[in-house]
Amino acid sequence: MPNKLDINAFMDGLQRRNPGEQEFHQAVRDVFETVIPFVNYNKKYLDARILERMTEPDKTVVFRVCWEDDDKNIRVNRGYRVQFNNSIGPYKGGLRFHPSVNLSILKFLGFEQTFKNSLTTLPIGAGKGGSDFNPKGKSDREVMRFCQSYMTQLYQHIGPDMDVPAGDIGVGAREISYLFGQHKRITHKFLSVLTGKGLEFGGSLVRTEATGYGNAYFATEMLQQHDIDIKDKRCLVSGAGNVAIYCVEKLLQLEAVVLTLSDSSGTLYAKDGISKEMLEDIKQYKFEARKSFSEFPKNKQYKFFENKKPWHIEADIALPCATQNEIEKSDMKAMIKNGIIALSEGANMPCTSDATKLLRESDILYAPGKAANAGGVAVSALEMSQNSQRLSWSAEELERKLREIMQNIHSQCVKNGGDGKQTDYVQGANIAGFIKIAEAMLAYGIV
Ligand code: NDP
Repeated sequence: MPNKLDINAFMDGLQRRNPGEQEFHQAVRDVFETVIPFVNYNKKYLDARILERMTEPDKTVVFRVCWEDDDKNIRVNRGYRVQFNNSIGPYKGGLRFHPSVNLSILKFLGFEQTFKNSLTTLPIGAGKGGSDFNPKGKSDREVMRFCQSYMTQLYQHIGPDMDVPAGDIGVGAREISYLFGQHKRITHKFLSVLTGKGLEFGGSLVRTEATGYGNAYFATEMLQQHDIDIKDKRCLVSGAGNVAIYCVEKLLQLEAVVLTLSDSSGTLYAKDGISKEMLEDIKQYKFEARKSFSEFPKNKQYKFFENKKPWHIEADIALPCATQNEIEKSDMKAMIKNGIIALSEGANMPCTSDATKLLRESDILYAPGKAANAGGVAVSALEMSQNSQRLSWSAEELERKLREIMQNIHSQCVKNGGDGKQTDYVQGANIAGFIKIAEAMLAYGIV
């Protein structure tokens, strides 16, 4: 039995067991750098090999997804569901449809989800899934046929008390509806097997907005904790999907000034700030027309920086809401030079390891994704509660609950985030998330 764990030795073993899974290695190192010192002082976790057990998913399913495109070609994609850890509740976490999807990315996301879901204090385990299918440029019918085929494989692995997926990149209301319709058709049952559903068939108010709103709430709490007001602060937001758009919506309600949004074609920059009216136009453009910013109508209120990210623009707060590793070392250097005071992650693991290192060495207040973007999964859990009770709560009630959950996550981070003059939110979130899962795993014995 080891007396002490060492991060490098632990990572050597993990890399040997999971060759080539770079994103997964990165996520585990990021979390365990702060958890290992804690575990070394708590021998019960060490003896029970909790860290080794936590990094091995409970179960992974990989399957073929065949579908027919509009030109009658047969297309083949790969589908996945990684059921990471159900110690504290049914597996819960999104489905991602994007060409970059592979096992490494899903394992990193599932691992992060374990800590995030624990932090919400709600009874939800962790999973993640998806496919390398690219919904971009596909017709509605093609997306429907793909979703039906994907669910035909997935349905035997999910259930209201087993595993309840939701959306993520490339999986929004349209995809969730097709997936739910197919599940109902195959099983002849109307079951709460997905969240993010339409309001007509068991969806929850505020679920769509929850991740973005939650991120803005968390940033506000973190700033308040350090006597800073978010009002009039200039914000850089990346992405133009579900998380980014609703993060901007809440930031505007909180009277912050949002300078940017971005997508895979580049950055849209409004030097005087994006107004509520502009945001409505952008919503229509991204969610209805599903077009890229490179074709956005020219207007003197905006500049478009092709193939550029927002991070070189002068501002006060950064809220990355697009994808993993979107902030590299040079981007972080630019932000530090420009005097950014806070960074709050809407996306999962948006900073590369090098960028995170620089960030953690700086004075910038840093809210990691597992804390700052937990609002989405929290309201998903509230959707499950409403489905069980067969009732719906009002938008006001749900927003109040969301705000309280984000405040509670913030308090847990402060409590476990060291006693320096500035809270270490990374340490706080990792340790608070870890304790609940580890205690449940210990209680179950050797399983
Ligand atoms: P969406 O698919 O709705 O939006 C993603 C946005 O990011 C799009 O605007 C997309 O551009 C842009 N994007 C994706 N990849 C890149 C890239 N490589 N470079 C530049 N831009 C890129 O996804 P979500 O908003 O749901 O998710 C965004 C992030 O938030 C992800 O990291 C996700 O895991 C995380 N998250 C999501 C939650 C949710 O509830 N949806 C919950 C918690 C975390 P384009 O428009 O050109 O495709």
